Amino acid sequence: MASLSLRNVIKRYGHGPKANQVIHGVSAEIGDHEFIVIVGPSGCGKSTLLRMVAGLEDISAGDILIGDRVVNNLEPAERDIAMVFQNYALYPHMSVFDNMAYGLKIAKVPSAEIKVRVDKAARILELGHLLDRKPRQLSGGQRQRVAMGRAIVRQPKVFLFDEPLSNLDAKLRAQTRLEIQKLHRELGITSLFVTHDQVEAMTLAQRIIVMNGGVMDQFATPEEVYSRP
Ligand code: ADP
Ligand code: ADP
Repeated sequence: MASLSLRNVIKRYGHGPKANQVIHGVSAEIGDHEFIVIVGPSGCGKSTLLRMVAGLEDISAGDILIGDRVVNNLEPAERDIAMVFQNYALYPHMSVFDNMAYGLKIAKVPSAEIKVRVDKAARILELGHLLDRKPRQLSGGQRQRVAMGRAIVRQPKVFLFDEPLSNLDAKLRAQTRLEIQKLHRELGITSLFVTHDQVEAMTLAQRIIVMNGGVMDQFATPEEVYSRP
């Protein structure tokens, strides 16, 4: 677990006179265990912000800290983060267990430890009875939970969600939203969740970052953000 700090973060795409600055000095102090939702119109920089925290995109200036560690120059794998994407891809030929274990095997985590972590994630996500199945034998909701299981077993300090619900039908979206809430209650992992859906923001966020044109317009509770005239 860890806090997350953005300190005057700037992002420019391109170089020289043609450079396009898309994030204009964003600062935010996010507490350990906090669930933060980032909202704002298309093109305002939500995804860029998330990808910079993940290390998938360099920052042009400023600092990003996870806990007390400056991560600006660390590879994604060194940042203790896990990302949940909207297009989760499970390995079709692997069992649920192996899908969740795969990244840990690559990272050479001992197999006894892998079993402990996968079993714990499976218990929280109610996948314990499905560990031997293949993805095609699962419902959409179960697959979504396996994808989250893969992120949990990494024991990240920070969870990054990039519109993970946007491709789901309404029923599955509501189900998965509840699942994410439950996960956060049980594990309390500091989370950054990008969406353009107000219901998701209202129900999931402890605080909301409102982005607009690469600037942080507001950083406040859902009540404060949505009671504005
Ligand atoms: P959002 O996620 O809020 O829709 P993005 O972070 O994707 O916004 O984009 C913010 C701005 O940065 C947009 O103007 C977009 O066109 C620009 N942008 C995003 N990715 C790139 C890139 N790889 N190269 C150049 N410009 C980009
Ligand atoms: P592969 O890319 O072959 O599927 P891995 O699943 O181990 O192998 O992922 C490769 C790299 O991506 C590793 O460095 C790992 O740390 C990182 N990675 C894997 N899954 C995630 C995730 N959910 N969030 C963040 N990083 C991840």
